[in-house]
Amino acid sequence: MIYFIGAGPGAPDLITVRGAEILKHAGTVVYAGSLVNPAILRYAPKSCKVYDSSRMTLGEVLEKLTSGHRRGDVTVRLHTGDPSLYGAIREQLDGLRQLKIDYEIVPGVSSFAAAAAAIGAEYTLPGVSQTLIISRMEGRTSVPAKERVELLAAHRASMALFLSAGMLGSLCEALIAGGYGGDTKSAVVYKASWPEQKILRGVLSDIAGKAALEGIKNTALLLVGDFLGDEYELSKLYDKSFSHTFREAK
Ligand code: SAH
Repeated sequence: MIYFIGAGPGAPDLITVRGAEILKHAGTVVYAGSLVNPAILRYAPKSCKVYDSSRMTLGEVLEKLTSGHRRGDVTVRLHTGDPSLYGAIREQLDGLRQLKIDYEIVPGVSSFAAAAAAIGAEYTLPGVSQTLIISRMEGRTSVPAKERVELLAAHRASMALFLSAGMLGSLCEALIAGGYGGDTKSAVVYKASWPEQKILRGVLSDIAGKAALEGIKNTALLLVGDFLGDEYELSKLYDKSFSHTFREAK
């Protein structure tokens, strides 16, 4: 069995209990060294073989995983945040499936959740937005044309933009071109949950400049939308005049 584990956003105690328990028994770990906090590797036994995948190809990653598996090791592929977002796991899963090796995925706390926690925000504020768009700007890796940032911005929903901290200027321009006002509240959260975490708040027209002054170029999310503002409606869920399955109106 090969376990794909979400390591969480950075803080070692933000891995799930299930993920940490499996790591404690691991004999082989292949971790995404560019982002996973090495402190999380302390859950693994001292004897564990640990490989950093940041310089590996897909073939090399699969080779390390399959040889761990063939040795009989509890074998772990450790991804940052939750593996289902920008984890490039599908190609690994398909490779293992072809080799008839079983795998299991253990979810993790994604950085978009850690960033919201850091700034004390709710993405789905009643009367403001009930939708969170998770996306990224096109860079060296393309994004399907129908999902260009400008087109997504037209919804003016809450947005969490990954993998784009190195091009915040053009990202903010694209969001404004797409329909957000330049005065839309925005935040950059750098290394959410790490000791070096930084939170920058501003509006779409000035947040990129603020991030540049702080030298932020990677490991950050841009959060955009009116959910960062002060206006919203109270929820129906806790409204005393609203009945639902668990409570009668008073
Ligand atoms: N699977 C990961 C995302 C991997 S893509 C997850 O669920 O979070 C890598 C991108 O994630 C980075 O470029 C950055 O935009 C974001 N990211 C990862 N960890 C982060 C953190 N601790 N704080 C802010 N952004 C983070």
